[in-house]
Amino acid sequence: MRLATLETTRGPRAAALAGTHYVDLNASDAAIPPSVRLILEGGPEMLKRAGQATRSGSAVKMDAASARLLAPIPDPPKIICVGLNYRDHAEESAAPIPKEPILFSKYATAIIGPEQPIVLPPVSQEVDYEAELVIVVGKQGKDIKADRAQEYVAGYMVGHDVSARDWQLKKDGKQWMIGKTFDTFAPIGPHLVTADEVADPLKLRIQLRLNGKTMQDSSTSQMIFGVGETLAYLSQVFTLQPGDLIFTGTPPGVGFARKPPVFLKAGDIAEVEIEGLGVLRNPVK
Ligand code: MN
Repeated sequence: MRLATLETTRGPRAAALAGTHYVDLNASDAAIPPSVRLILEGGPEMLKRAGQATRSGSAVKMDAASARLLAPIPDPPKIICVGLNYRDHAEESAAPIPKEPILFSKYATAIIGPEQPIVLPPVSQEVDYEAELVIVVGKQGKDIKADRAQEYVAGYMVGHDVSARDWQLKKDGKQWMIGKTFDTFAPIGPHLVTADEVADPLKLRIQLRLNGKTMQDSSTSQMIFGVGETLAYLSQVFTLQPGDLIFTGTPPGVGFARKPPVFLKAGDIAEVEIEGLGVLRNPVK
């Protein structure tokens, strides 16, 4: 299933893509909660019910062409990000291959959906782009075993880890989080693609285009810490909850590593595409 959050006259509503239409899940079946996060909290039973509502003859449909998509999960309990998680990106950054995941976080105030603008903050002159695969947690778990991690994954999304390099790398203490969580710095979408539709999350082409020019083009097979290892590592420390988002790192080609460097400017269009998951397009202003 491809789950989305749509703007409707009733407010933001969880929807599922069905060909050329989206199905408003809550309007089609009142037992289905109106938010994607709450649907995930309902577990496999609720996902099954959402699938049935999508296929039902009485489904409440909205034309996909005119639908306004919001972030699929605007209210995650946590947003966790893995840094330097691609072999080829660690090399371009002249950083050693990490032995354990390098972690930082973003706040939910950074989340935007497709087509919503990435707003350049006046206090940064070095805002960069990073194409990322996002894991969406589907089940509460602590001390998850790597080989059982798939049970805890609801699905995957396209994400963009927008990064103010001057704040990430040039401030005292080298704390990454502050450069990563400016408002609008976590675009996600267009859909949450459920795990049953992703044969192997570590075999997906991942690309970023800036104004139509390809800047990043790699494969999730370059990831150092995969899905199971990452969930196992994190859940040693804290409980993962349905709707948590895990940004899994970016491949090479980012702006600050280029000669000369490339940073985002007003009027740019950034598109992140991951094979099978869709295209996430955001203007920059
Ligand atoms: Mn990143």
